[in-house]
Amino acid sequence: MKEAITGAAVLLLCGLAFAGEPPTGPSDVRWNPGAEDCATSTQPPLQVHRLDAATFVLRQNPCASFEANLMYLLVGDERALLIDSGAIADPASMPLASTVMALLPQRAGVRLPLLVAHTHSHRDHREGDAQFASLPGVEIAPPDEQGVRRRYGFRQWPDGVAQLDLGGRIVHVLPAPGHNDNHIVFHDERTRALFTGDFLLPGRLTVDDAHAFEASAQRVAAFVRDRPVSQVLGGHVELDVDGNLYPHGATFHPRERDMALTKADALALPAALADFNGIYATHANFVITNPKRNLALLAGAVVLVLALAIWGVVRLLRRRRAARASA
Ligand SMILES: [Zn+2]
Ligand SMILES: [Zn+2]
Repeated sequence: MKEAITGAAVLLLCGLAFAGEPPTGPSDVRWNPGAEDCATSTQPPLQVHRLDAATFVLRQNPCASFEANLMYLLVGDERALLIDSGAIADPASMPLASTVMALLPQRAGVRLPLLVAHTHSHRDHREGDAQFASLPGVEIAPPDEQGVRRRYGFRQWPDGVAQLDLGGRIVHVLPAPGHNDNHIVFHDERTRALFTGDFLLPGRLTVDDAHAFEASAQRVAAFVRDRPVSQVLGGHVELDVDGNLYPHGATFHPRERDMALTKADALALPAALADFNGIYATHANFVITNPKRNLALLAGAVVLVLALAIWGVVRLLRRRRAARASA
């Protein structure tokens, strides 16, 4: 299904779901671009795209939040999994929970239970939790590192792979710290898609811990190497079709590139991180950056410029004093 749909079409969509369609290939959805002047935008805050009969992508409009987070709903026979809950807690401005709940099928008059999980604990991936907090049949996975270890049963973090059984649909969970210390990625056996949050996306790969990130990239590459991966779906799209980054905070994403990366990108990530200069590196489908390091370098440069300026002033004053003394 190629067209993106809005929340209003969700009920109609539920009737279409579970028709036994095979998983689709890379998505060619066109997301609403947001606007430079959001006050004049009439685009809905949330857009839903059906990837297959039981897999949905939800995307926050850049005007609702410049982060424009992507979220993923995977429905099994017995329960459903929401990967990330986005940047906005207020249901009046982001109807996330109502949209997701309307997408869940019913069994004997009861909606399938839902697990709200997170790729990691950055706020733009979990603010929407608040909307699910009081809903029956919903479990919200803890986003902190200890909670993640406990919930998925990781004994040797960051080694090991956990499984979620959604009922006829197994989802593998892999630790992937480095962007932040509790990051995980998901591999869905049904669609063969790899859901990577901020670990791997068409945009900025923001490094917090370079060693952990590289080790995670090696583990994830080893996991996918001999497995089918239909597409790699991250938490944001920050590149246009020409490979240019949107400025940080941009609410307008004209000519956005395809949301999907590929298995080749996942396999290329370890070498890209091994070669990372620690500051900034551009690759075909992503940019690696270390804002903490960049900030430290900037601070160092400012200190150096100030020191040089002070040294210059002191030298000038000394010369003048010497000139006066010899006059
Ligand atoms: Zn993040
Ligand atoms: Zn993010």
